[in-house]
Amino acid sequence: MKRRRQIYEGKAKILYEGPEPGTVIQYFKDDTTAFDATKKATLDGKGVLNNRISEYLMSQLNAIGVPTHFVRRLNMREQLVKEVEIIPLEVVVRNIAAGSLSKRLGIEEGTALPRSIIEYFYKSDKLHDPWVSEEHITAFGWAAPQDLDDMVNLSIRINDFLSGLFLGVGIKLVDFKLEFGRLWENDYMRIVLADEISPDSCRLWDATTNEKMDKDRFRRDLGGVVEAYSEVAKRLGIMPESVQAESRGPVLVR
Ligand code: UDP
Repeated sequence: MKRRRQIYEGKAKILYEGPEPGTVIQYFKDDTTAFDATKKATLDGKGVLNNRISEYLMSQLNAIGVPTHFVRRLNMREQLVKEVEIIPLEVVVRNIAAGSLSKRLGIEEGTALPRSIIEYFYKSDKLHDPWVSEEHITAFGWAAPQDLDDMVNLSIRINDFLSGLFLGVGIKLVDFKLEFGRLWENDYMRIVLADEISPDSCRLWDATTNEKMDKDRFRRDLGGVVEAYSEVAKRLGIMPESVQAESRGPVLVR
């Protein structure tokens, strides 16, 4: 028997109707995909780690006044969030060249960028999330100029804060992807950070060895994906003790 009504199932998460209007439950799956979902796997314990890591980072951001959709973690795999209207953009912030930027512009991976760069990708599986400019975004009405302004300002604050937070635990924040939503409160709308922030959506390199501690371990067949995510959680001081127990079988729900 299903406990809740499912609203949406994505590649790594499921959204369920929340306990009251205006709320949604995000369930973190162990599934992972790359390259337009042509590469797939199930990684035992990944969902638990991402739920915990995203909870921690969103709470820290809430605490410094960055508005987010996050309300609270409910259990090992679920968190309660505010219902928002997702803006169909992936906002990527980069500090060090890697991934598609290196490929597209021929800049060697690992090159420190002269300044942080923000890029936008239009969220469309059918079109393979194409790179778009502010011109496209405002001309096609995906976001208004004021929304875009808010997203840029929030992205810069998030980058400054998270770069420092990660560096404090010996991790370089190479790049990351953000999603924003419109939160309606009566007739008033504001832009808030939505989705998740986790090693699935960030590039995280060990500050001394440059070892990859993120989804590139899966994309590039480096192995040790869950171990790397656990190490990120451990360094942040939030390692959920029962991840291992959970991957072996049922555990008590706290
Ligand atoms: N990213 C993401 N979801 C996507 C595409 C990218 O979370 O659908 C993240 C990715 O993990 C990296 C950053 O955004 O931290 C920049 O990714 P990039 O444009 O280099 O693309 P990739 O090389 O991952 O295809």
